[in-house]
Amino acid sequence: MKDSAIAFSEKYLKIAFTPPSLTWNWRIRNKIFKDLFDQYGLNEYVDVVEPEPITEEELLLVHDPEFIEYVKKKSETGIGYLDYGDTPAYKGVYEDALLVVGGTAKLVKLILKGVYKSGFNPQGGFHHAQKGAAAGFCVFNDVALAVMLANKEKLRVAAIDIDGHHGDGTQFILYDKPLLKISFHRYGYFYPGTGDINELGEGAGYGYSVNIPLPSGAGDDVFKMALNEIVIPLLEHYKPEFIVAQMGVDGHLGDPLVDLRLTSKSYRLIGQTLRYLAEKYAQGRVVGLGGGGYDPDNTSRMWMIMISEIFNIPEELRRRIYDELRDKPEGTLSTEQVVETIKHRIDRLKKSLKEVGLLPI
Ligand SMILES: [Zn+2]
Repeated sequence: MKDSAIAFSEKYLKIAFTPPSLTWNWRIRNKIFKDLFDQYGLNEYVDVVEPEPITEEELLLVHDPEFIEYVKKKSETGIGYLDYGDTPAYKGVYEDALLVVGGTAKLVKLILKGVYKSGFNPQGGFHHAQKGAAAGFCVFNDVALAVMLANKEKLRVAAIDIDGHHGDGTQFILYDKPLLKISFHRYGYFYPGTGDINELGEGAGYGYSVNIPLPSGAGDDVFKMALNEIVIPLLEHYKPEFIVAQMGVDGHLGDPLVDLRLTSKSYRLIGQTLRYLAEKYAQGRVVGLGGGGYDPDNTSRMWMIMISEIFNIPEELRRRIYDELRDKPEGTLSTEQVVETIKHRIDRLKKSLKEVGLLPI
């Protein structure tokens, strides 16, 4: 009996809510991740479940009905943006958003039923979406939704967000709820601009929003310090019965968007910490969500390292995954990946040159 699952579908490979310049990076990381998953034979220990679109009723747990209608309408016309200019509207964006958020909901429900202990949705972690607005490449917020679905079952839920950006949508959707939310992120003249230590929550939720704002350039030593000094003691005190982890990898040293310097050491450490806390307090219940990460190779490798620590995988295989996929000074891309990356860059360069008339058609 396998006790972990990932949500995955070939349809995932066509979905990205980013501007066109980042859609390739967003989509290909899912493919590299699944290729690594297969290559290491994780099918033997982890089920792959087909995501299904979430129902509107479930979406209402975290979003306003007017906003859901707005996305539906924008999805019919496919014109303009869903927000101020980060998240493009396109025909079918509503259905795509229902599917990826549905992947998270399906895993959470299977974990709540006791079918699995842990799960991971690489096409999840849309932590910038607010109750009534899309934002930062996020349409609907599956992080807050996962928290609410588990909380409906009267479980004490904790959300831990290690993405390089503040989990502002998750924080504000759940701001007045006594459910622990912790976010590590770069802070200071940086998107989305929130995530200060003074943002502690409101009403019954006061004290349940915890922000670890990191200065640009922060790396493994700082991450470990924050984890040991505040995050672990806090979670040991809170004793979560269900953990939702937004596992964005844009805090990685090689990310082109966020200037943090985490390496595979931090990603292994957070994976081990999540498993330790889940086993100790939550009967192993933890759901991981993909989140940001704009270097496809780094992102998929770090996801593999994290899930291999969280899931029940033989020690020897877990060690092999870490040894082979950790950051190495000499680079980590296979020959095929190097060729694929260069091909894509050449295609984009040709397209740009044609557009300005510098290259004959
Ligand atoms: Zn991010």
